[in-house]
Amino acid sequence: MSARGQLLRRWSAYDGRVISPAQPVSPTIADSADVDGTTAAKRVLLAAPRGYCAGVDRAVITVEKALDLYGAPVYVRKQIVHNKHVVATLEKRGAIFVDETDEVPEGETVIFSAHGVSPVVHQEAKALQLKTIDATCPLVTKVHREATRFADEDFDILLIGHEGHEEVEGTAGEAPDHITLVQSPAEVDAVEVRDPERVVWLSQTTLSVDETMETVRRLREKFPKLQDPPSDDICYATQNRQVAVKQMAADCDLMIVVGSTNSSNSVRLVEVAVEHGSREGHLVDYADELQEEWLDGVNTVGVTSGASVPELLVREVLEWLAARGYGDVDLVTAAEESLMFSLPQEIRRDLKARDGKEAAKLRHDPGSLR
Ligand code: SF4
Repeated sequence: MSARGQLLRRWSAYDGRVISPAQPVSPTIADSADVDGTTAAKRVLLAAPRGYCAGVDRAVITVEKALDLYGAPVYVRKQIVHNKHVVATLEKRGAIFVDETDEVPEGETVIFSAHGVSPVVHQEAKALQLKTIDATCPLVTKVHREATRFADEDFDILLIGHEGHEEVEGTAGEAPDHITLVQSPAEVDAVEVRDPERVVWLSQTTLSVDETMETVRRLREKFPKLQDPPSDDICYATQNRQVAVKQMAADCDLMIVVGSTNSSNSVRLVEVAVEHGSREGHLVDYADELQEEWLDGVNTVGVTSGASVPELLVREVLEWLAARGYGDVDLVTAAEESLMFSLPQEIRRDLKARDGKEAAKLRHDPGSLR
């Protein structure tokens, strides 16, 4: 969507109440603040969409429902999503986060995180007789399926992504003999394939769109027959959050991205903001990490959050800014999101069984559930 087409809403400080109708935003947002030559007012541009995506929402609810259904502890392999606050909150409720499946006691329940796992991890869990719940985001599962399909057809798969990221480990584990990791455009020169006629690229879901396209451009120069994935691997949530930041960045003296340092899509938002004109960009988990000196000479502060960040944390940042004179918040909307995923089948099955039992109990003894 073009800058002219985006929607700008005026928000009452940070309470989320729209106080004037949506109207097209001017492409020169910053200029409008000082049209009469007076000093530009302090204000915040708040990105939309921001925060939770459908895959994160599903994964977090999965752990919450598992705790409700089975009681604590419930084990989770790796951080369910890459956010410090979410992990700490679930830990308080009884979730135990482990690095590897063999840390889970035999026979217990383990949830696989939104980033996905390789088939080897499923096999390990089976050998330990663990009850597994797979909270892998369906958009990551889609990439896994692409990897197995192209491997079955004996393609060389160039997976664009970051080494060591859990999602990349999971996807690469689907077809280890066919996948070569390419981390950046700079690595393209060193890439070798068996047959340049049968080569395809796939990617991690949370990368910078621009950098990935540059890597693909260079790969295609080297391998003209390079095939594209059947559909975008960089997911809708990553793309939308980057588009919103691109629309705001040139008008921002400072961009604050709420998110954790191990959150790939959050880190990318800081990079995208600075690449597209924000004078500075910072990633913070919590409002108390904000520094007064970042505001020196700053009129417009951009605020956004990664796909694993609860809105509460953004509100705390807006409150911190409002207390320092940045109480006017303009919402910059790049896209509307309505995607939702159903919960993993194991949770749906057990919720249905529980609800059935409770209904039967209620039929026999109407006072029993009061
Ligand atoms: Fe799924 Fe994208 Fe969210 Fe990752 S960022 S959990 S791929 S929707």
